[in-house]
Amino acid sequence: KRIITTEFAEEDIKIENHLRPQLLKDYIGQQKVKDTLSIYIEAARQREEPLDHVLFYGPPGLGKTTLAGIIANEMGVKMKVTSGPAIEKPGEIAAILNNLSEGDVLFIDEIHRLNRQVEEVLYPAMEDFAIDIVIGKGAAARSIRLDLPKFTLVGATTRAGLLTAPLRDRFGVVSRLEFYSTRDLMTIIRRSADVLHVKIDERGAEELARRSRGTPRLANRLLKRVRDYAQVCHDGVITLQVANEALDLLDVDKYGLDQSDRNILFTMMEKFGGGPVGLDTLAAALGEDSGTLEDVYEPYLIKNGFIQRTPRGRVVTELARVHCGIPKEQL
Ligand code: ADP
Repeated sequence: KRIITTEFAEEDIKIENHLRPQLLKDYIGQQKVKDTLSIYIEAARQREEPLDHVLFYGPPGLGKTTLAGIIANEMGVKMKVTSGPAIEKPGEIAAILNNLSEGDVLFIDEIHRLNRQVEEVLYPAMEDFAIDIVIGKGAAARSIRLDLPKFTLVGATTRAGLLTAPLRDRFGVVSRLEFYSTRDLMTIIRRSADVLHVKIDERGAEELARRSRGTPRLANRLLKRVRDYAQVCHDGVITLQVANEALDLLDVDKYGLDQSDRNILFTMMEKFGGGPVGLDTLAAALGEDSGTLEDVYEPYLIKNGFIQRTPRGRVVTELARVHCGIPKEQL
């Protein structure tokens, strides 16, 4: 299993709840999202109404769940957490909605994975705070409307485009989360180190931040691993040297790439002369599924300028060539 995956992993459970900021003022970075939210929250509070439904989208581990919790805290209400794949039947979502209290936040992670029938229950629930229930069968069947408490739905998804249009249109606030800058990640790392009683100096924090792929979840996970290394192999303090040694040992390089990422770049250069090479051909050469290649590996490599997408296929960049130490004439 890759340590640098930004997907939620078993080992994150304990640490994440511990490290989640509770209020907007403690949430680092994402200034645009915070500015928008604080206005909407303030307005809703003044009107003593629940906040409008909110959709967060962006790669995993950037703080969508955390923000949902912050909304509930700032509004002084409870949050109920569920996810798209966890709700299978219309009756299940109806029960969840019916059990909410006035003003509560319902957080649905991976909301793009709700099935059609469940999604259809959500439409009137979001719009009119009501659900339609069908009683009886055949000719005797009739529909009755059940009023629900007013609530705020907070949805999270990795890509807004994955949502159906009718669902997307029912969110009053749609916010995109961005990868974090090294500076913001440093602040997050230092705050987490404080909570975990770990000593880390400025340059140690900077090195960790640089190799964390712009993602707080990964920054926290790497911090935990480097802490162990610092404790066992050094005096417990994370300095630049300790961070370098520990991260090298974990096989996370200066750009936050691991063996799998480098393997992709090497394969492109050694077998396909640097490209252009089609996604499926490349996936076959790597023995990897093309969907995984596209969704899991490629985004970070493209975003950081190692690979470019062209109409004729994928091409490695000069940065990738230099990073992998392949001589120019070999391409
Ligand atoms: P997502 O729901 O987008 O996958 P999470 O909200 O679960 O991401 O965030 C993952 C971890 O990263 C959390 O434990 C949280 O501590 C940390 N985190 C995320 N965003 C921030 C932030 N802006 N400031 C501080 N910590 C953050």
